Order: sequence, then C-alpha cells, then structure tokens
Amino acid sequence: MTQTKNTQPPGFKFIGSTGYVFVIQDDGGLIGEHRIVWEEAHGPIPDGFQIHHRNHDRTDNRLENLECVDTVTHKRLHMGHRWVEGVWFKKCTQCGVEQPDSEFPTKKYVDGVRMTRGNCRECERERQRAKKGYIGERNGGVSSMFGKHYGPRK
Ligand SMILES: [Zn+2]
Ligand SMILES: [Zn+2]
Repeated sequence: MTQTKNTQPPGFKFIGSTGYVFVIQDDGGLIGEHRIVWEEAHGPIPDGFQIHHRNHDRTDNRLENLECVDTVTHKRLHMGHRWVEGVWFKKCTQCGVEQPDSEFPTKKYVDGVRMTRGNCRECERERQRAKKGYIGERNGGVSSMFGKHYGPRK
C-alpha cells in the first residue's frame, strides 16, 4: 500500500487531475477552490448541489463564473445541454441541430439524465432504417430532412 503523503502546507493551491483547483485545508483535507469562493459569498452549498463553472473553465473561480446547480442539471450542462425558457435543449450529434429534449427518443437514463446516442428522433429513425437496410429506398439514399447521403448516389 502506498499513500501519497501530503507535504504541502494548508492554503496551498494546485490543479488536480480533474482540472479543478484544490486548496489544502488546515486538517490536510482538500477542498475545491470554487466551493470556497461560492460559500464565502452565499453560505454552505446545499446537499446534492454542485458548483458549476459557467464558462467551463474549471480554473476560473471568479464568483460570477460560478453557479450552484443540482447534480442532474450539472450533468446536463456538461453534456452541452441548454436550458431555454423552461425546456432543455440539446444538440443532435448526427445532424448538429439543437432541439428540445423531447425530440430525442432514448429511454436510457443515467443518474436521472436522459442519455442518448445524441441522435434526434429523425436521425435515430434514419439510423434504424440503415440498420435494417431500408435506407436507399427513399429519396435515392438521401435522408429527407438533412440531405445526408447514405447510399450510392445515382
Ligand atoms: Zn460544471
Ligand atoms: Zn439529428
């Protein structure tokens, strides 16, 4: 058993392997600098909440860059989802179009977040058709919506 001995003094700051800035506490424990900054301004972080870096720069711990969000929301934000007027939007990895969450047909959930292949309903339909070998029978192999070419072009 090897244990990394912490030889740095309390208050010492460093960037951890996760990219977050950590500060060594008086008892030798570690705390994320973003947590300290947020808590100094707003008080203790509620249970089940995390501090998100708005600009996705984990070393940018200016208060205005920090946002207290629940873990599910946090996950979504890191998946590139956007909260627009009460609806989560996400980008389809296939066609690149940002669409409401409801346009993604997946039933798979991970930690309360709908996970997808990232394909919107239309792209997923095309994918299923392609899997079954049906693609190419419609529109000469060009998917109707996004003009993606799947089959040999005549
Ligand atoms: Zn975050
Ligand atoms: Zn799509």
